[in-house]
Amino acid sequence: MAARLLLGTVIRDQIYAELQEEIAALGAAGIQPCLAAVLVGDNPASKLYVNSKIAACARLGLRSELHTPPASVSTEELLDLVTELNRRDEVDGILVQLPLPPQVEAKRILDAVDPAKDVDGFHPINVGRLVAGRPHLVACTPAGIMELLRRYEIPLAGTQAVVLGRSDIVGKPMALLLLHAHATVTICHSRTRQLPEVTRRADLVVAAMGRAALVTPDYIRPGATVIDVGQNVVTDAAEAERIFARVPDRLNAFREKGQVLVGDVHPDVAEVAGAITPVPGGVGPLTIALLMSNTVRAARLRRGATTAASARR
Ligand code: NAP
Repeated sequence: MAARLLLGTVIRDQIYAELQEEIAALGAAGIQPCLAAVLVGDNPASKLYVNSKIAACARLGLRSELHTPPASVSTEELLDLVTELNRRDEVDGILVQLPLPPQVEAKRILDAVDPAKDVDGFHPINVGRLVAGRPHLVACTPAGIMELLRRYEIPLAGTQAVVLGRSDIVGKPMALLLLHAHATVTICHSRTRQLPEVTRRADLVVAAMGRAALVTPDYIRPGATVIDVGQNVVTDAAEAERIFARVPDRLNAFREKGQVLVGDVHPDVAEVAGAITPVPGGVGPLTIALLMSNTVRAARLRRGATTAASARR
């Protein structure tokens, strides 16, 4: 039987509807949250991501501003920009789009962001708060996945969860959030042995490795929930044909465009899993939704505002 689809697009729309109420309430109190995005250089993927974030602000009625230092920017110059954004009281959220050019010391830049404005949740203080079980601003992708699991009523307490990937922005915070939701969590990475044996014990598998279609049906216990974070662009025809042999629509899309977006989970897993997120339309839309949510939250907390919507959370 085909797995139930967990649609990030549906959850994103719910989150936006709730945020709109909260933004209206803040507006009535004279507060318009503002997100400042820093886009260094002209990496096309980064431009696309930042533009989507700015467009989401416009859709919700949040203020946004875009800062575009050149690719040649130095660490010191970027630190000056972040310091200025920290200082300006009307800026509630600061987002520094990654990756940064090689001459920039990325850690110093991220550590310089005021933790109260750190809407990506990357600052060590916010990571520490998450570890301590007192989350403040949490990394957007894992926080979005928790919203998806909660709203689709996927049980977590007492279950076995396996997170594939241990990055600071997805794998580690994901594992901590699942742990705090009382799952028994295993974190896997590139050195993990016998991966399919580990994942087959799981009620929930979160795949965040950046390896196209690596998770095949033999990795998954029948009925398990599978969350596919991977966003891999496949341009090789043989690979696309191997992955989408039984999905003619996607194969046709590849033939038209010469590339196709593939998750870390093979499409055949949908025949074994109980519930699964599609790619695209699964985790992707939630990342931006949670960035918007973090920006509103940062504004509310920084300015000491309480709204009816926030009181319900
Ligand atoms: P990352 O920093 O490259 O981390 C990848 C992790 O996967 C590492 O911990 C690595 O292990 C592990 N890994 C790699 N190959 C593996 C293998 N064969 N078996 C087991 N583990 C393996 O990547 P990331 O930033 O976390 O992103 C992961 C994926 O999610 C990417 O496809 C990215 O595009 C996608 N993503 C999507 C969204 C979204 O909004 N949908 C947001 C963020 C990221 P080691 O630590 O041992 O190297």
